[in-house]
Amino acid sequence: RSLEQVLADGIRDIPDYPQAGVVFKDITPLLADHTGFGQVVEALAAVGKDDDGRPVVDKVVGIEARGFILAAPVALALGAGFVPVRKKGKLPAATYEESYALEYGEATIEVHQDAFAPGDRVLVIDDVLATGGTVEACLRLIRRCGAEVLGTAVLLELSFLPGRKRLDGEAVAALVTV
Ligand code: 5GP
Repeated sequence: RSLEQVLADGIRDIPDYPQAGVVFKDITPLLADHTGFGQVVEALAAVGKDDDGRPVVDKVVGIEARGFILAAPVALALGAGFVPVRKKGKLPAATYEESYALEYGEATIEVHQDAFAPGDRVLVIDDVLATGGTVEACLRLIRRCGAEVLGTAVLLELSFLPGRKRLDGEAVAALVTV
């Protein structure tokens, strides 16, 4: 199967979740498809390689929670370390935090202050790019730690939301855009 087919087969629409009027993109069928999951991990890992196929990242960041599922195997595929960016209050050691606006209210994410070595080259992974607020705050966190953002890769980009515009100037790769 092509990657396009794998993504079409494995991502389903759930209407009115988490609230009325929202159509949630559910990736759990894709995760349960061993071959497809492998193809997706390979495609995301390619974003962290140069033209000759050599890995160019030191750390792969996964954003809680679905980002973890994708970022950990990508890190292993690239021979890189894995760093979790988590919702506030979940990480045990000293953290930096960044807040961003949601449709209603605010969210805060954190990273351990010592998660990166100075100058580490970082690839950020998440499942879905929607408004871009989560990735934008994540990039601020990484830069506060003194690390270098090489790029961001997501499974799915929702093009009817302003995520890409909000991340103007950043390298953002999406395996599929709807
Ligand atoms: P943003 O900050 O770009 O608006 O939202 C992105 C975050 O919300 C991501 O961490 C993503 O996991 C989650 N998200 C938003 N909409 C969806 C969706 O339709 N499906 C999935 N799987 N995650 C979503």
